[in-house]
Amino acid sequence: MHRIVLLGPPGVGKGTQASRLARELAIPHLSTGDLLRAAVAARTPLGREAEAHMAAGRLVPDPIVLKILEERLAAPDCRGGYILDGFPRNVPQAIALESIAPLDAVLSLDLPEATLIGRLSGRRVCPTCQAVYHLATLPPKVPGRCDKDGAELVQRPDDRPEAIATRLQVYHEQTTPLLDHYRQRGLVRPVDARGAPEEVYRRLRAGVGSG
Ligand code: AMP
Repeated sequence: MHRIVLLGPPGVGKGTQASRLARELAIPHLSTGDLLRAAVAARTPLGREAEAHMAAGRLVPDPIVLKILEERLAAPDCRGGYILDGFPRNVPQAIALESIAPLDAVLSLDLPEATLIGRLSGRRVCPTCQAVYHLATLPPKVPGRCDKDGAELVQRPDDRPEAIATRLQVYHEQTTPLLDHYRQRGLVRPVDARGAPEEVYRRLRAGVGSG
């Protein structure tokens, strides 16, 4: 069974890699960031609580994230495995996850900080279909417009410089301790995230194995 966590700093390419791996393995890609952004857009009570934390680049309080994720994991399509992207983000979340759902592997992606900042600050997203672009490395065909549906591309509020700095700091302080947590459990498989998405995917795929 493939019950996988993709771990790594903001901007490392977790979302891109997770969605491709999920397609190939035919299991759901569960991004807590996406679930939270959908809750914010739908103006649900949880979304309203999460919004200011997200825009500032801080973690959303654990009870909110856990509630959203637990509901999603209970859906029938998660019975055959799943890929978690952006969760857990701290040790208490990892411990909470252990009591709701087992894990088979933690794929750990990493990149130098300057590369992460370049990727985050150039990222633009389609608000309609969530397609992701980059001003320098993956520009849309028509500047500022989504290739798929023509919508005007936007910058995520947390991809602005002040929020990027906070997110990287939060990652170092709260998320990197997870690596030790999972190393002690023998789950970590490191993946070099340098290079083109295609190249990274090949390494990631090799790290997943046939399960
Ligand atoms: P991401 O799309 O994974 O970069 O997440 C965007 C933002 O959503 C983060 O900066 C946090 O504010 C929030 N978020 C996503 N996942 C979590 C999580 N597991 N715990 C707390 N906050 C989260």
